[in-house]
Amino acid sequence: MMKRGTKKLKCMNWDPETSKWGEYAPDEIGCREIVEVDSKTEKVLCWRCTSRSVTGVNKFGGATHE
Ligand SMILES: [Zn+2]
Repeated sequence: MMKRGTKKLKCMNWDPETSKWGEYAPDEIGCREIVEVDSKTEKVLCWRCTSRSVTGVNKFGGATHE
């Protein structure tokens, strides 16, 4: 069920070259995560990239398992 006042945004690492956190994208082509956010939110980093950035794991570091 969709809540009012939300929208879907692409993860900032959709385009890693323009993202401040591009080095934490899952691979060179970027992250393909879509995140549901508050309608006022302009930018979002998905939980996957967020967790990479907080643990300091870049795209060449450890494998992730779905
Ligand atoms: Zn992401």
